[in-house]
Amino acid sequence: MTRLDSALEPIYDQVLQRNPGETEFHQAVLEVLDSLGPVVRKHPAYGDARVIARLCEPERQIIFRVPWVDDKGRIEIFRGFRVEFNSALGPYKGGLRFHPSVLLGTVKFLGFEQIFKNALTGLPIGGAKGGSDFDPKDRSDMEIMRFCQSFMTELYRHIGEYTDVPAGDIGVGGREIGYLFGQYKRITNRYESAVLTGKGIGWGGSQVRREATGYGTAVFVEEMLRTKGGSFDGEKVVVSGSGNVAIYAMEKVHQLGGTVVACSDSSGYVYDERGIDVELLKDVKEVRRARISQYAEERGARFVAGGSIWDVPCRVALPCATQNELDGAGALALVRNGCVAVGEGANMPTTPEAVQVFREAGVLFAPGKAANAGGVATSALEMQQNASRDSWSFEHTEGRLEEIMRGIHERCAATADEYDVPGNYVLGANAAAFVQVAEAMLAQGV
Ligand code: GLU
Repeated sequence: MTRLDSALEPIYDQVLQRNPGETEFHQAVLEVLDSLGPVVRKHPAYGDARVIARLCEPERQIIFRVPWVDDKGRIEIFRGFRVEFNSALGPYKGGLRFHPSVLLGTVKFLGFEQIFKNALTGLPIGGAKGGSDFDPKDRSDMEIMRFCQSFMTELYRHIGEYTDVPAGDIGVGGREIGYLFGQYKRITNRYESAVLTGKGIGWGGSQVRREATGYGTAVFVEEMLRTKGGSFDGEKVVVSGSGNVAIYAMEKVHQLGGTVVACSDSSGYVYDERGIDVELLKDVKEVRRARISQYAEERGARFVAGGSIWDVPCRVALPCATQNELDGAGALALVRNGCVAVGEGANMPTTPEAVQVFREAGVLFAPGKAANAGGVATSALEMQQNASRDSWSFEHTEGRLEEIMRGIHERCAATADEYDVPGNYVLGANAAAFVQVAEAMLAQGV
């Protein structure tokens, strides 16, 4: 990373001072500020009006207690968060993450990323994120339900169709959204469909929402490959993770003619030269909620416990698990084995060192806030359907998603050209999104 522009350094120093120890948040802010030097030189008004400093401070941060009773009759207490980061473009929008690693700083980093991602979709949504340090792993269905109900018993007073619209993220899928929505309805006596997205298809959910993040990532990377005359067709691909994003990224890569030869979970990775059997993987992960070692056993594929998936040779890598999962050593291994493109399906899965390795090696690199925006974009389409009491077909919704992803790609590429760094999608995404949010903030006053 280069030295920050002198106008931006004090802003970053203040972020460090105000948010001690929140290293992921610092990392996300630094990555954006690093792109904004040329932007503030071109538009000094953004520096003068302190738009960037205002952007780095969440509009509202909510921390609450989540007490509930587990199956053994024991009282358990977790912490809930919602960071409502920026509402310049629309109601706060962003997922909820249930994972033991969740701290306020995690939610802040995700909420900050969400502002820019949501702007890139071109749809009217602000940025937010929430979650809890609750670990849903190995909990019974009724425990999940009671936890979600307790979580919503506090969250409901902060959200609403015109205020803040949560959705899923790691550890929060269709089942959790159902329990959360049920409790919201019970407390408020309102069938306010657009208060949450990721709902079931039969009761206000959208077609393609489940598939959207993974599909969108693959579509974005396909567009990126095309700029160099390539495509997924006939290429070997590695996808880390095996959750919602990873599964549907694999499905789309296969539809586009590529072969996903490896995927992973926190215990290791599966290598399968014939290509991952996505239907079997869905059954193992989504229906049986089991580990990928189970998939490997049933499929007769090799399971490598604890190894690095980035050692598997491939042309395209899609990190779709979690933040900072792809480090400098992983990036060097990928480059050494001939990888030409990387697309982030997860939020900030690539460390700054790894991004640097890819930049120096000329590897095409799609940052998450552009490449994985298909999930939240389809959430906005769900809100649109709810507002008009409509429900669109799979084909129509997928068509809209693809159009949005191509639009994001085009916007990032054009902005990178505008700032004379062709092919730099990181700068393109950050600059394009920032300018849109900054214009709205300036127009709306301090
Ligand atoms: N959690 C997803 C993301 O990282 C989706 C958020 C949403 O649909 O609101 O963008």
